[in-house]
Amino acid sequence: MLVKKIVTIFKNFPKRHSVAILFGLLMLVSISILGNFDLSDRKKGADLTKKIKIDVLKEGDQFEPIYTSKETVIKRNDSLFTILTKFGVRNENIIELINSKNSNLLSKIEVGDKIRVNLDENNEIKDLLYIDDFQSGVRAGKFEGIYVINKFKNKLEKIKVFKHVIIQDSMYVSGIKEGIPDSVLMDVVYINGWDIDFTHDIRPGDSYSIIYEEILVDGEKVLDGDVLITEFNNKGKKITSIRFDLANGKSEYFSVNGINVKKAFLRSPVKLSYISSKYNLRRKHPVLHTIRSHNGVDYAANKGSPVRATGDGTVSFAEYNSGCGNEIKIKHSEDYTTRYCHLDKYNSRIKVGKKVKQGQTIGYVGSTGLATGPHLHYEFHVNGKHTDPLRVKFPNATPIKSSEKIKFTQVAYGLTSQLNNYKDISLRKEVPGG
Ligand SMILES: [Zn+2]
Repeated sequence: MLVKKIVTIFKNFPKRHSVAILFGLLMLVSISILGNFDLSDRKKGADLTKKIKIDVLKEGDQFEPIYTSKETVIKRNDSLFTILTKFGVRNENIIELINSKNSNLLSKIEVGDKIRVNLDENNEIKDLLYIDDFQSGVRAGKFEGIYVINKFKNKLEKIKVFKHVIIQDSMYVSGIKEGIPDSVLMDVVYINGWDIDFTHDIRPGDSYSIIYEEILVDGEKVLDGDVLITEFNNKGKKITSIRFDLANGKSEYFSVNGINVKKAFLRSPVKLSYISSKYNLRRKHPVLHTIRSHNGVDYAANKGSPVRATGDGTVSFAEYNSGCGNEIKIKHSEDYTTRYCHLDKYNSRIKVGKKVKQGQTIGYVGSTGLATGPHLHYEFHVNGKHTDPLRVKFPNATPIKSSEKIKFTQVAYGLTSQLNNYKDISLRKEVPGG
């Protein structure tokens, strides 16, 4: 540990100063060692006078040689040669490394990766670490005069982190204040965005608890991992989402009862838009100026904004259709159909009979047909009847298969009990003596 610290200090000084500092440090170290001896062993003064045989001293008792550690992130036009030269390594030493067995592992260095070397007092490479990502890389080390080069893989360690947040301003700002990383909060928003409208549904005093993973290498955090469980208290309602690794290799989030938190339909078919006209059965038509029911929702957006299929389905109609202009209809199931009007253009892959996925771009916002400006007119039909897409209760995406239910129940039980335990502990801390 001490050696490591000294080396770190060294990195920041020119060599001449380093020698002086080293001398000073050695003095300090020896003074403190002698000092300790003096205090703890004063009574055993007699023993200290005994002579110690040289062969009793093991190798480990000797002073570790001091290495200088140097590190750099690989930039464009860098090569192993230029980097090592910059570190002050002599050409002969670099060539010796390059001529060693397996040196081809070091031949492809990539921009953004890291190289760390430990140099001895003659600026010779003692060992070199090429770090590919936090998980793996190549290591070269000198043993008995020969460089041994091989790949390595770091052992990753996962730890669970618990956070409890009482929302004062927004879900996001309050989360940041509690030290939750940005990427984790984004995941929390995505997981719960199907059930909670974070702009309109959150009330001060709402709260949430989460458990997420941190990934460590050698005890240091290298990455924020997955969110394992979230529990929202929103306007007195508790919403729990649990991550579960499905047999097909995918991971999804489910309620305690195994219902997929994802819905079969997206809330909105146009991402950057605002609702310019709601579903209204008695509305004056802006072009025809007569009372005509508005059987859908209008999303105003820039011309050319992508229009997304709100659910998985099959294209059942895709052509110009009078007032609706360029129109697309998607049949999602026997019960559900969605309709998209006034499109400027169709996505080139959209043809009647083609299957589409939720979120896939099917066309672009325009003002074809009867429209005053670019917007998407969006309709939602249930069993052939017009339904308000903003009020309809969407069906859930695929639930857990019965064959995976037992495993899910165990995972859900484990995570909810952990969350409750953590919550008990943290709440007890908040109420002194409580
Ligand atoms: Zn409309």
